[in-house]
This record gives sequence, C-alpha cells and structure tokens, in this order.
Amino acid sequence: MREAGLVVVGASLAGLRAASTARRAGYDGPVTLIGAEPHLPYDRPPLSKAFLADPDYAPPLLTDAGMLAELRIDLRLGEPASGLSLAEREVLIGQSSVPFDSLILATGCAPVVLPGLEAGHPLRTLDDARAIRDRIPATDQAVIVGGGFIGAELASALRERGAKVTIVEAADVPLVRAVGTEMAGVLASLHHRNGVDLRCGTTVTALDPKVTLSDGSVLDADLVVVGIGARPAVGWLDDSGIPVHDGVLCDETLCAAPGIYAAGDVARWHNPLFEATMRLENWTSAVAQAEAAARNAVGPAASPFETVPYFWSDWYGNRIQMVGVVTGDVTLLGHPEDQSWLALYRAGDRLAGALALNQPGRIMKYRNRIAGRANWRDALEFAAAVR
Ligand SMILES: Cc1cc2nc3c(=O)[nH]c(=O)nc-3n(C[C@H](O)[C@H](O)[C@H](O)COP(=O)(O)OP(=O)(O)OC[C@H]3O[C@@H](n4cnc5c(N)ncnc54)[C@H](O)[C@@H]3O)c2cc1C
Repeated sequence: MREAGLVVVGASLAGLRAASTARRAGYDGPVTLIGAEPHLPYDRPPLSKAFLADPDYAPPLLTDAGMLAELRIDLRLGEPASGLSLAEREVLIGQSSVPFDSLILATGCAPVVLPGLEAGHPLRTLDDARAIRDRIPATDQAVIVGGGFIGAELASALRERGAKVTIVEAADVPLVRAVGTEMAGVLASLHHRNGVDLRCGTTVTALDPKVTLSDGSVLDADLVVVGIGARPAVGWLDDSGIPVHDGVLCDETLCAAPGIYAAGDVARWHNPLFEATMRLENWTSAVAQAEAAARNAVGPAASPFETVPYFWSDWYGNRIQMVGVVTGDVTLLGHPEDQSWLALYRAGDRLAGALALNQPGRIMKYRNRIAGRANWRDALEFAAAVR
C-alpha cells in the first residue's frame, strides 16, 4: 500500500516551515502542503509596513518553485481544506480527499468582521494589502478601526504616504492586553507625536461611507481599514473530533490527536516554561512551533515545546519589541518620551517580560534571561549594569 505521508494544511509561514523542516530532518515520504490562497507562501509582516509605504515593494514570497521541487513538497493551492476525517485519516478538499499518516494544522487566523463594518478593508492577506495599496494614491483622509499593532503600522505607512490618519479605538487606550495599561499609554503617545488623531473609548456605528462614531462625531474617509483582531481559522474542523477552543488545543508537544499536530497562530498549547496555556500570534513563535511540530510529527518521539514569546512592530521609524509575558507590575527604565527605553515586567520573584523601544541589541538578552527563569532582582541588576 502507498505511504500516505505527511500532510500540512495552511500554506503560509508555519505550514511551509513545517513541510521543509520535515524534509530537512530526513523524512523521505510524500509531503503535501495544502493552501486556501492562490499565491505561493508569502510573509505577512511586510504587508502592513514596507509593502504599503513603498508602492513598488514586491510580494514578499517565502519560497519558489525550485525550492519546493528540491524539497519534494507537493503544493496544492487555491482551495481550502473543508473537513477532516479522523477515522479515515484523510483531509477533505471539496469533493476530493488527501490521506495522511501524520498531519500538521497550520491554518492561522482570519480577521474579525463585525456587522456593519463589512465595507471596511481587512488587512491579513496579500490581496487585502494590494487592495489597500491601490487606494492610497487617492487617499487624503484614512480611518483605521482598531489601534492594535497592525492598525498602528498601517497608520505609520499611511502617514509616510502623506495621508491624514484617524485611529478609532474602542478601549480607553490601545494595546492594553499586549503590553499592559501603563506601557500602552506610552506607546499611544507615538501616534500623537506623529500627527495621528487617536480617538479612544469610541466605536464605529456606521460606514456609509462617512464614518459615524458612537460619540456622535462623523469623519470623512477615502479609505477605511478595519483591524480589530483575528480569530483562529478552525471552522473547517467542526465535527472532526479535533479539540478546539480559541485555537486547536494541543498538549505540550503541540499534539492535538494521535499523529496530528498544530503550529502557528492557530495552535493553543501548554507552554511548560510559563506553566500556562497560550496561543501566540507572532512570526517567531510560528516558525519555532512549525519546526517543533514537524520534528514531533515525523520523528521517533515527541518532545515538549517551550518558548519565550517574542514579537516586534515598526511604527514611525521606531522598533518596538516585546519578549515574555505581560503582568500588572512593570518598571520603566527610562523616560516615556525618550527615543529609546526598556520596561521590565515582574511576576512574583521572576522576570516575566520586557518591552523595548529602539533597543534591538538589548532586548534579546532579556529573552535569554526569561528562558533561564531569571530572578527579578538579578534582572534589575543586569539592567543597571548594561544600561
Ligand atoms: C499584516 C500583518 C503584519 C504582521 N506583522 C508582524 C510583525 O511585525 N511581527 C510579528 O511578530 N508578527 C507579525 N504578524 C504576525 C505573523 O505574520 C503571523 O504570526 C504569522 O503569519 C502566522 O503564521 P501562520 O502560518 O500560523 O498563519 P497565517 O500566516 O495566517 O497562514 C495561515 C494560512 O492558512 C491558510 N488557510 C486557512 N484556512 C485554511 C484551510 N481550511 N485550508 C487550507 N488553507 C487554509 C490561510 O489562507 C493562510 O494562508 C503580522 C501579521 C499580519 C497579518
């Protein structure tokens, strides 16, 4: 009987990295990578940054036909997986099916769409970014609904292209969940300093095409982009028997069911380093999880995967980086209006996280310290010594 091999669903960052890692780890069976989008796998971070700021920026592809052929990865693009049969061990794509011995789920996230906001542009895919970029030359006034990282990067790119920008944020300050209340306020000041009108504590009640806000104000807009978060793309797993709750639920080896692993934005797993269940939406974790999931899926034994979360974001020429996790106990080393600062988050007697503005060389030292379960006092002494 023919070997069914490894099947990976989701042909983007995590999916491609999982497929290529399996091959590079010596796996010799068939490898099939299934993607809903028609494009070769591409990188998303540039889509809210250089791709919008520079009208000539090329699609940021992650691979090409030559590399796929060399790695013997069979790429099936343009049609989403529609179901999964655990009993038959096959992935369904419309009327056809693809059998698997091992499976990696890497379907990422899809943007949240709220009723009444459908007329706004989302920003998740290359096609979304192209649609926004096409409108920029005719955009004098843009409204961005949602002040998260993607909204902030978009505001920055639009300012670079000369547009007036308003960000509408439902919370009192954006990014509280990502960096905590105190540091969220510090980051919000970057918008004010770069001429962006940040309206907090208000929501959009109508897009027609003027933008009406719940506080009664009405904004003109040539371009409206809605960036209010993303949800794991798991609808196709309904009734499959795969455990799902805000992501594919996995154990500490990223395993969701026998022979079935998850990686990237869609995976919710137990991170032993923090003794917590997490789902991360960042580039670095997607890559590391994909490599671990692939090794576990095709290797002789599965190992736990632990990581210190890390993300970066670029606004108005500044690099923002966060490692670890946020707590309510934060110490800012520096002044909020400095061009460069570091903030450390404490959990009991441990260093839990670090957030930096324009300190690219320094932040990774804290990532290593968090991975090594650093003591809070030692972290402060280290910060004072290397300042
Ligand atoms: C605009 C933007 C900017 C970003 N900037 C940063 C940044 O600066 N720093 C950072 O750390 N992170 C950033 N990220 C996050 C980072 O890009 C993601 O964490 C990463 O893309 C996750 O990779 P993934 O492969 O898990 O998911 P995705 O990249 O979402 O890919 C999932 C793929 O699966 C496909 N798919 C979905 N359902 C199915 C199905 N049923 N069948 C087949 N295929 C399916 C999707 O079409 C998609 O191509 C950004 C994300 C976006 C959208």
